[in-house]
Amino acid sequence: ETIGRSLDHARARWGEREALVSPSHHVRWTWNEFADRVEALAAGLLALGLQRGERIGIWSLNRPEWTLTQFAAAKAGLILVTINPAYRLSELEFALGKVGCAAIVTATAFKTSAYMEMLNTLLPELASSEPGHLRSARLPQLRAVIQIGGPAAPGTIPFDTVSQMGGDRHREQLAALGESLQFDDPVNIQFTSGTTGSPKGVTLTHHNILNNGYFTGRAMRLTEQDSICIPVPLYHCFGMVMGNLASVTLGTTMVYPGEGFDPLATLTTVAQEKCTTLYGVPTMFIAELDHPDFARFDLSSLRTGIMAGAPCPIEVMKRVNTEMNMREVTIAYGMTETSPVSFQSATDDPLERRVSTVGRIHPHVEVKVVDLDGRVVPRGERGELCTRGYSIMLGYWDEKEKTGDVLDTNGWMHTGDLAVIDDEGYCNIVGRIKDMVIRGGENLYPREIEEFLYRHPKIQDVQIFGVADERYGEELCAWVRIRQGETLTADEVRAFCQGQIAHNKIPRYVEFVDEFPMTVTGKIQKFVMRDAVEQRLG
Ligand code: ATP
Ligand code: MG
Repeated sequence: ETIGRSLDHARARWGEREALVSPSHHVRWTWNEFADRVEALAAGLLALGLQRGERIGIWSLNRPEWTLTQFAAAKAGLILVTINPAYRLSELEFALGKVGCAAIVTATAFKTSAYMEMLNTLLPELASSEPGHLRSARLPQLRAVIQIGGPAAPGTIPFDTVSQMGGDRHREQLAALGESLQFDDPVNIQFTSGTTGSPKGVTLTHHNILNNGYFTGRAMRLTEQDSICIPVPLYHCFGMVMGNLASVTLGTTMVYPGEGFDPLATLTTVAQEKCTTLYGVPTMFIAELDHPDFARFDLSSLRTGIMAGAPCPIEVMKRVNTEMNMREVTIAYGMTETSPVSFQSATDDPLERRVSTVGRIHPHVEVKVVDLDGRVVPRGERGELCTRGYSIMLGYWDEKEKTGDVLDTNGWMHTGDLAVIDDEGYCNIVGRIKDMVIRGGENLYPREIEEFLYRHPKIQDVQIFGVADERYGEELCAWVRIRQGETLTADEVRAFCQGQIAHNKIPRYVEFVDEFPMTVTGKIQKFVMRDAVEQRLG
């Protein structure tokens, strides 16, 4: 199965049902309408001269055209390079150059017009070039810049024009590609979040991500009766695989609450569109639950959803379960390199397990937990999580060595995450190897301390990390966000820990902040906090 053929199936099975709804873009497309638009765009991409296996970048916030591009590129045999909309000039040049994009789709409707300016700085030749025939000194492979919305900037091709460019010849070409494209052809390059350092370009096939979308949706028992509210970014697998590809394989409706994350817009959209399913990283759910207008929204349509991407605090899961009515909410664990999901709770797992573990291994994926020497540890013991199966990436694009560092010759992906799996197969992610703090020779796991501090009634959110220390090697530091209207001191926080957790787990430094440094996926970047504190401490 390929992404293109699965869209054909979706059209055949659910043609007149809603495929994609984006109220802020005034879009409400059935699978028939959606598939028509995808085909027109795919034919246009071929008319532009793009060839099978070439890379096409997309650099835009969440919009319906994003998803049209995702499916059209797959149908045309292209590899979609999903670029973080927060990337700025140097990151953009790095990403486009790294994978040698032949075309890029961008949107002027970005919050600022700075995007077009950035492109013009990167591509001074653009304005005077004939659309589709760019010759760039810095990005020699780039030929076409396609622009969504707004008056077309000089040298660019309007998105809607591309959709009208395909002729009969291109439609025939498309039909032939439909037959010849293979399930294990690469279809997507996405970059990891950059939580622990600079992002890596992960190459994924149709087989990888289409099946992962399917199994992820299946775990929530999604059908064509469901609709998923997707406030998570599309450029990341959370949106494009767990959202868009779960939908195409199960007939679910994709609902976009807006271009960037906004708790109010998300709550409004869930209520208005009567979504049954809601996605988010923990910080998004926290922002929704704590929104001053939260109680105003009728969320009774919600049934299930996914919290994922980062450790999911039990307290937050419990609130989502009751206050948001997501009685069948699941936690998923995964990483870009594994398409992404490999563990997920089932909707009928006992509540305690569902809110406190990442569930059990997904169908058709193998798992083992190993110690530092690569030996499998006994059940219930901590070690590095390794997974293997259909979902493992082809590799990091053009990075053989980095690929070899994480993917061994037997096909095992070394996740860099620490896990404990119990007798019944439920898995707990207890931290990242990189986040583990080694204080005076003892391994400390920030996650455990964070869970404890979440119980403090005045603490809204807390992050624990290690900072370099002459005496102990590393010392613990806590960054705390206090609940609105409350006050709290460092001594009070430490006093709360006294006698409750081991003395060496009590943070030496406690600092109060308004927000944490985050990736655009809403993941907290501990390395940025560590750098900030270390610089201050000298
Ligand atoms: P980078 O690899 O660039 O540092 P990243 O690892 O955050 O960034 P992603 O591939 O987006 O990039 O995220 C995967 C990681 O997210 C996992 O390796 C894991 O550490 C974390 N993660 C995902 N889901 C969960 C979860 N449910 N609980 C705990 N951690 C999770
Ligand atoms: Mg990673």
